[in-house]
Amino acid sequence: MNKIAVVTGASSGIGAASAKALAAAGFNVYLGARRSDRLNSVAAEIGGHAIVLDVTDTVSVETFSAALPEQVHVLVNSAGGALGLNSIVEFDERQWLQMYQSNVLGLARMTRALYPKLRASTDGHLIHIGSLAGFETYVGGGGYAAAKHAARAIIETLRLEWLGQQLRVTTIDPGMVETEFSMVRFGGNAERAANVYAGMRPLHAQDIADAVVWATTRPAHVNVDQIVIRPTDQARADKVFRRG
Ligand code: NAP
Repeated sequence: MNKIAVVTGASSGIGAASAKALAAAGFNVYLGARRSDRLNSVAAEIGGHAIVLDVTDTVSVETFSAALPEQVHVLVNSAGGALGLNSIVEFDERQWLQMYQSNVLGLARMTRALYPKLRASTDGHLIHIGSLAGFETYVGGGGYAAAKHAARAIIETLRLEWLGQQLRVTTIDPGMVETEFSMVRFGGNAERAANVYAGMRPLHAQDIADAVVWATTRPAHVNVDQIVIRPTDQARADKVFRRG
């Protein structure tokens, strides 16, 4: 029987690429996100299972979890993202609440809901898509960095709380990846989103998916703790080389 992988944020970007890569590696993949049309098309491409999921809603998370098989081997938590680029003194409460809801509480809700199924697999693995913003920050990135720092604290706590349970916990922390991330951050402003990557070569979602598959396919006694992946053109969250 194929192992079961669950991927949140699978309608786009890193989550969609991870779902495809895990399917290619032989996993039976369950995909969650809010946009059912996008989710269905990724699932159809890989013979996976699309289930609508909003990680900011506890009932949605529990309904999603109930629809999964009794054993889950891998949970890839990719749902999340940034909203806005305001300075701290001009922060937008609605954006910050939403970032905390998806990046922090969403991770906690998914982990709580799937814990029994990860345990039941006898070799469960939580892979969290963090960010450089989990340990660095940048001007205008305070709200997103605060949320990703908080998510990292959850991951580090899980490693302590799950010690001895044969549950693995990995954080993959990407730098700039060209996905829908910046379009979402800037409320659909394509010009602002394109400027983020102007003159530099960002990562592709597939680069992160490669790391997801690698971490997931190590032997059961090996826990890949943290993988930091930056574009060659990015030295820090706020230090980017641009041509021309
Ligand atoms: P993306 O293309 O915008 O994908 C984000 C995914 O999250 C979408 O599938 C979206 O699907 C889903 N999502 C957002 N809110 C959700 C919610 N409440 N419930 C369920 N799903 C939700 O961006 P991405 O770059 O792949 O981002 C994936 C993760 O990587 C995020 O956690 C992001 O913070 C992190 N990351 C990205 C970068 C980057 O430069 N791109 C760098 C470091 C870390 P729906 O809208 O259909 O729900």
